[in-house]
Amino acid sequence: MSFQNTLAFAQSLDQADPLRSFRGQFYIPQHNGKDTVYLCGNSLGLQPKSARAALEAEMAKWAELGVEGHFTGENQWFTYHTGLAEPTARVVGAKPGEVVVMNQLTVNLHLMLVSFYRPQGQRYKILTEAGAFPSDQYALESQVKFHGFNPDNAIIEVAPREGEHILRAEDIIRTIQEHGQELALVMMGGVNYYTGQVFDMAAITQAAHAVGATCGFDLAHAAGNVTLQLHDWDVDFAVWCTYKYMNSGPGGTSGVFVHERHAQNPELPRLAGWWGHDQSVRFQMKKGFIPMAGAEGWQLSNSQILPMAVHKASLELFDQAGMENLRAKSEQLTGYLEFLLKGLRQPKEALEVITPEEPSARGCQLSLLVHQNGRQLFETLMANGFILDWREPNVIRVAPTPLYNTFEDVYRFGLFLVAHFNQ
Ligand SMILES: *Cc1c(COP(=O)(O)O)cnc(C)c1O
Repeated sequence: MSFQNTLAFAQSLDQADPLRSFRGQFYIPQHNGKDTVYLCGNSLGLQPKSARAALEAEMAKWAELGVEGHFTGENQWFTYHTGLAEPTARVVGAKPGEVVVMNQLTVNLHLMLVSFYRPQGQRYKILTEAGAFPSDQYALESQVKFHGFNPDNAIIEVAPREGEHILRAEDIIRTIQEHGQELALVMMGGVNYYTGQVFDMAAITQAAHAVGATCGFDLAHAAGNVTLQLHDWDVDFAVWCTYKYMNSGPGGTSGVFVHERHAQNPELPRLAGWWGHDQSVRFQMKKGFIPMAGAEGWQLSNSQILPMAVHKASLELFDQAGMENLRAKSEQLTGYLEFLLKGLRQPKEALEVITPEEPSARGCQLSLLVHQNGRQLFETLMANGFILDWREPNVIRVAPTPLYNTFEDVYRFGLFLVAHFNQ
């Protein structure tokens, strides 16, 4: 599509947008009595208006029924999580039995590493991306130490080449092959949080399996952002949070994928708790853990109904919109942002987009590397009602999301940058 840098053009795209009604289903934070230009759904997604009623329904149930809420009505708490499986499976490309919603992201990452990082003999190393989100780095480091290894030796990081910002697919695959015999696990982000690069998860999984390693992804920046086919890609496990692109509230619950190959295997070692125990005999309170079939068999504790109620409301919007439609709009929105940035009369030495240009290698987010006075630019933007996100040392992350952002939002952001740089 050929874009134009005018308000009228941006508004015409909004009018033609089949998803335009969804913005009205969210609260847009205000600045001086007007909607902010909120480009921060990669950090904390906005609140669906339906979330409060969903939460209040559970509060009312608790007030009226007390403990009986566990076994009363359609959305009874005892099986509440099962109502989230189908819509979750649609977002990540899984079978419903392969996903479960529980806990929080880093906790779930550890639970998965217990099952899928199983060092044996020479095969004890983990391959990951350099510059992974710190929580993932700490999780891997502590798991490796837990098994008695030295992280400096047991964690292999694939880094961008000298002078480059993003990882080359061929470098990831080659490094997997080079370390083949030593690799127990390949574990990366699906989308790098800093650069916004989407990794070729199918190719990485295939390469990991070809050398005999297992393969998992942290989808914090991928779930609800890009289309995923976890089952077909044969990924072993994945985890994600729900408060970024999935709009399910600060510190919200998290999702887990375990491929059915493993999910149906009761012998697979895991940390166990009563909520993963066979539901039909759970309340017999007997010794001897018998895991539920599927990803549910990794549950530890009884469900966190309040954050899950919010998540359920949010998942309903994803079902109404459809991931394919969201992705189609997202490519246009981010494409428009890229077009406007390219129009800035600004040398690469001042401002550079480090996110890949290829649409299939990125999601909503573009990461702007600001070489001079980046923090100052970020603060000026924030003071003028643009909500973005700053990452040290000099990156502004800009993430127009297809559920609630408009082409006009993107246009206004571009206009501000033109005024700032071309003044
Ligand atoms: C946001 C994010 C986290 C945050 O972890 P929590 O356990 O939800 O606090 C972890 N990893 C990645 C890759 C993230 O993007």
